[in-house]
Amino acid sequence: MRTTSIKNLLKSRNLKSTALRISLLEIMSNLGKAVSYQEIQNSLINFDRITLYRTLNTFIERGIFHKIILEDHQSFYALCSMECSTEGHQHQHVHFQCNQCKEVSCLETKEPIQLAISNYFVDDIEITASGLCQNCQD
Ligand SMILES: [Zn+2]
Ligand SMILES: [Zn+2]
Ligand SMILES: [Zn+2]
Repeated sequence: MRTTSIKNLLKSRNLKSTALRISLLEIMSNLGKAVSYQEIQNSLINFDRITLYRTLNTFIERGIFHKIILEDHQSFYALCSMECSTEGHQHQHVHFQCNQCKEVSCLETKEPIQLAISNYFVDDIEITASGLCQNCQD
């Protein structure tokens, strides 16, 4: 993502372009995968823990990032697609963790995910899958 598009994205979500917000979006778009909290911390040179924590939460609230919590309670963050907005997240994908390289990715499914449960209204489905990623299959 170019800096201008990052600024436009922040503006569209009514957020000021602060240095930390821009760096976070740059890191995420450059890596192009889900990133652990540790990796985010390691990629930032100068930051304040509380500000980083707040910024991540703001991004989640505004539909810019989403949080992935895996079985071992490790948190990962990933960029949202354009369907997510300040109104809410619109996710229809699976979170996959590779057993070998431990990378986490957001995967679109071939068919839309549908869950039919009588008498309940489901508006959010969280699916995590594990196995071998494309890189580790060779
Ligand atoms: Zn989202
Ligand atoms: Zn892998
Ligand atoms: Zn995702």
